[in-house]
Amino acid sequence: MKYSGFSLLKNSFSGHKHWPNIAADIEPKSRYDIIIVGAGGHGLATAHYLAKNHQITDVLVIDSGWIGGGNTGRNTTIVRSDYLLNASFKLKDFALQLWQALSQELNFNLMYSPRGYIDLAHSDGELEHFLSRANAMRLGGANVEILSSQQVADRVPGIDVSDNARFPVCGALYQPDGGVVRHDAVAWGFARSASTAGVHILQNCPVTGFTAKDNHITGISTTRGNIECNKVLISAASASSKLASMVDIKLPMDLINVQAFVSEPVKPILDSVVNYNAGLAYISQTDKGELVMGGATDGYESLARRGSFSSIEDTLARATQMFPFISRLRLMRHWSGTADIPMDGNAIVGRSPVENLYLNCGWGYAGFKATPAVGWSMAELLATEQLPQLLQPFALDRFKSGALIDDAGIGPYPWLH
Ligand SMILES: Cc1cc2nc3c(=O)[nH]c(=O)nc-3n(C[C@H](O)[C@H](O)[C@H](O)COP(=O)(O)OP(=O)(O)OC[C@H]3O[C@@H](n4cnc5c(N)ncnc54)[C@H](O)[C@@H]3O)c2cc1C
Repeated sequence: MKYSGFSLLKNSFSGHKHWPNIAADIEPKSRYDIIIVGAGGHGLATAHYLAKNHQITDVLVIDSGWIGGGNTGRNTTIVRSDYLLNASFKLKDFALQLWQALSQELNFNLMYSPRGYIDLAHSDGELEHFLSRANAMRLGGANVEILSSQQVADRVPGIDVSDNARFPVCGALYQPDGGVVRHDAVAWGFARSASTAGVHILQNCPVTGFTAKDNHITGISTTRGNIECNKVLISAASASSKLASMVDIKLPMDLINVQAFVSEPVKPILDSVVNYNAGLAYISQTDKGELVMGGATDGYESLARRGSFSSIEDTLARATQMFPFISRLRLMRHWSGTADIPMDGNAIVGRSPVENLYLNCGWGYAGFKATPAVGWSMAELLATEQLPQLLQPFALDRFKSGALIDDAGIGPYPWLH
C-alpha cells in the first residue's frame, strides 16, 4: 500500500474506511531472527532501520501495552544536541540530522519544528560553562550561539530578565536547530514503515521471561507462549532492569517518576523552547496554543506513574518565575512516566554479558531526542555485529571500568548534579 496523495483522496471519498491498520494484529510465528522487546520509539526505529538499511525483516517487535504507550508517548517532545561531552553530543547531533529528513523518509508528518532551544544561565559561572559547551559543540560542527540577557529578552517576549526576577537571567545557550517533534507520530511513523516492510508488531503481549542455554538466549516467554529467535534486544525503558534481571544481569538504574504539564491554549506567545535552570522548568507552545511544561524528577524512586501536587507546585513556580503571565493560566492536563536513570545519568546501549542479548535503556527523561540515531546504530550492531563508534561510550561495562559519562548537560538529577 502506497500512502500517496491519491490514496488520501480515494479514502476521503470512501469515508476513510479502507485505510490499512498501521500495525495489524498478527499471529506471531514460532521463530524470528530478531526479537525487539518494547514498541517505543527506540524499538520501532531499530526495526525500521533493520529493514531499510540492512534488509532484515524477520523481526518481531513485542510490547506489553500499545505502540508508543511508554515514555515515547509521554514526553515533552524536545530535541536538541547541546551537550558538553562528545558521547552525548555526537549521538544526539546525528539524531538532529536524521530528524530533518525523517518525515519525508517515513511519508508521515512528524511535525519536526526546529524552532530553537534556549538554555538559560542564571549566574556568570553557569554562562561560562555554557560557553565551554558551545565551543565543544562548534568543534563538532554544530550551530550554536551564546545570547546576552537582552538578546534573550528580544527573542522571547514575556520572559522576566529584570532585576526583580527571582533568579537573574545572565544569558543563554541558543541552539537554532533544536526544537520539538510530535512524539506519537514518531512511534506510528516508524511502526508503519517497519510493518509495511514485513516486520511483525505484537501489542498487548508482555514478555515474561527468556529461554536460555549456555549463556545464549534461545527465545522469549510471553503471555501467548514461547517464541524462538537468534537475537533479542531489550528496549523497554524502565522495565529493562526487571527483564535483564531474568537472565541475571543487574542494571545500575534508578526508576523515578517524571511529570509533565499542559496549560489551557492561548494565542501564540512562544516560538522557541526555553529551559530554566534554577530548579528546572522547560516550556514550549504547541500549535494549538497550549504551553507544554516539564520539570525535575520526583525526589524518590517509584514505579507509580502518578502526578503529585508537590511537583505541580515546584515546576509551575519555576515556570512562573520565568514567565510571570503563566500565573494567570489554568493547568489543563498533567501526566507522568517512569524515567530509567543509570548512576551517571547516561544510557546503557550495546552488548550484554549474555552473548546474543542486546540492551538499549537508561534514557531517563532525555532519550526521545536520540530516537532515530539509536535506532540506526542499534540496527547496525544487530545486523553486522560491529559496534558503531557512536554507541561505544554507552556500554554497560563502563560501570566496571569507571569510564562514566558525567555530562552535566543531561539534566539535574537530585543525586548527581
Ligand atoms: C515526562 C517525560 C518527559 C520527557 N521529555 C523528554 C523530552 O522533552 N526530550 C527527550 O529527549 N526525552 C524526553 N523524555 C524521555 C523520553 O521520553 C524517553 O527517553 C524515550 O521516549 C524512551 O523511548 P523508548 O522507546 O526507549 O522507551 P518507551 O517509549 O518507554 O518504550 C518502552 C516500551 O517497552 C514496553 N515494555 C515494558 N515492559 C515490557 C515487557 N515486559 N514486555 C514487552 N514490552 C514491554 C512498554 O510498554 C513500552 O511501550 C521524557 C520522559 C518523560 C517521562
